Amino acid sequence: MSDRLQDPILNLKQTVLDFALKMSRSGMAPATWGNVSAIDRERGVVAITPSGMAYESLSPEDICLIDIQGNSIDKKWKPSTETPLHLVFYRNRPDIGAVVHTHSVYATAFASVGREIPVLIATLASGVGGRVPVAAYQPSGTEEFGTAALSAMGDRTAVLLANHGVVAVGKDLNDAYTVAELVENAAKIAILAWIIGEPAELPQEEVSRLRRKYLTKYGQKG
Ligand SMILES: [Zn+2]
Repeated sequence: MSDRLQDPILNLKQTVLDFALKMSRSGMAPATWGNVSAIDRERGVVAITPSGMAYESLSPEDICLIDIQGNSIDKKWKPSTETPLHLVFYRNRPDIGAVVHTHSVYATAFASVGREIPVLIATLASGVGGRVPVAAYQPSGTEEFGTAALSAMGDRTAVLLANHGVVAVGKDLNDAYTVAELVENAAKIAILAWIIGEPAELPQEEVSRLRRKYLTKYGQKG
């Protein structure tokens, strides 16, 4: 058995690195301006990307390990400057296992004008549960930045940060990353749809039905 499988912490760090690389290669977070984390609740530790280091150059050991209050455990590198944003979600939402923060272009265009992303497509209804709301502007890296994001998100799985970017959450990194992709895709489609015509938003009952179906039946569930 490989070291990775034997060591759950190294495994957590490897998963964070895998998704950081995926995000960086996708163009959803230009340069190192995006961050990824995941929590191991049993051990009370969070693995998060380090601050200002090119993800391509990292090995899993370079992913920072902190406690839920933000104290460094491995004391190797400085964690992301957006760490307070990630920790607010872990402290207040026990259902959340991973956080992805991007500055993806189309979703950030919505964030820049303070406009919610409408539910024009079924995938957004299923994965996010409704319109993607907008959190009021706060300086990044602060506790207030995280608190504003948490409260604006409500029961959705994503939120736009005014004049900044996107936060997507999920039970694990695969889930949170999928939401970040869905949000960017929905933002792009909305902008294109407004260029070519007048798209109709899905009615609330249909949005709720799609979300319920996704939560109970999608994939291997139910
Ligand atoms: Zn940011």
